[in-house]
Amino acid sequence: MRESERSFSYMPEGVGGFPRREGIEERFNQFAREFADTPGVKFLAGAVSYVRDQLGLSAGDFLYEMCEGILACNYPVPDRMLKLSEIVVGQYIRKEMIGNHPFIGEFDLFAVEGGTAAMTYLFNTIRENHLLKAGDTIALGMPIFTPYIEIPELNDYQLVELSVNADPESRWQYSKKELDKLRDPKVKAFFLVNPSNPPSVRMSEESLEYLASIVKERPDLIILTDDVYGTFADNFVSLFAMCPKNTILVYSFSKYFGATGWRLGVIATHRDNIFDLQIGKLPDAQRQQLNKRYSSITTEPEKLKFIDRLVADSRTVALNHTAGLSTPQ
Ligand SMILES: *Cc1c(COP(=O)(O)O)cnc(C)c1O
Repeated sequence: MRESERSFSYMPEGVGGFPRREGIEERFNQFAREFADTPGVKFLAGAVSYVRDQLGLSAGDFLYEMCEGILACNYPVPDRMLKLSEIVVGQYIRKEMIGNHPFIGEFDLFAVEGGTAAMTYLFNTIRENHLLKAGDTIALGMPIFTPYIEIPELNDYQLVELSVNADPESRWQYSKKELDKLRDPKVKAFFLVNPSNPPSVRMSEESLEYLASIVKERPDLIILTDDVYGTFADNFVSLFAMCPKNTILVYSFSKYFGATGWRLGVIATHRDNIFDLQIGKLPDAQRQQLNKRYSSITTEPEKLKFIDRLVADSRTVALNHTAGLSTPQ
């Protein structure tokens, strides 16, 4: 609020303007020294120090992004995710979902209103972009969070479901025989929750590696891994780390942080992925239809990434510019 009030030289009480970027870091440092004993200030100073000293980002840019977000004086830009927030959360996702596993290249994030929104948006955009169509078969890693069974059955999607069953006698792991179902080219996608809900067991390293070897033979297989429980496991490695080009990662802050009320999650896709590739290879008529759909967003809709299509579709394309979430969220 003080940053906002600074915009006016004569300030009627309760009136403020846009925050100013210039000198914001120095003002914050002074504030942190002055109020060092006030509860919460140490946390704030620690957060700024993490961003500056560990991530090597500009503390001033970060403070400005937070300040503008908290004041809520502008629509959040960029709409997919605020710039520095994407880097900070990306670092967290990298640490918790990839860890020490080898990983080449970068990934993009879309900040969403929980895992719920992630699922809703993904089903919709996958269909709108013809990656899955009515009558297509998708495999589900069973048992699974029931919406993954119910959504594909809706009139909206009309997908055919194939169960890949975990074995309760083998600590809820998928046998090779079950995973081999994914070798059938008829199976267009594999959706799973890992660690699983309800069994609360993560896929073994052996199964992850076996699945990755299948994906080598099925480079077109779309994978959606819902890893909202991944942060409960030590040294967790997501399928996203194993098969980054094929996999959409869903993460939510609801469960680990006991914050279902925040409505906060992210979708991650690798910058080099099969979704963009498959969209690029659609028949001419479908590509032209999609170019028209996204023509209000960019002069080169053909190049619009899958993850940016998700953002657009989440706001019925025409409201793309007001899609963003701000820093309080
Ligand atoms: C709870 C849950 C979700 C929904 O998460 P929210 O962030 O609360 O919307 C999605 N997937 C799984 C597996 C869950 O358990």
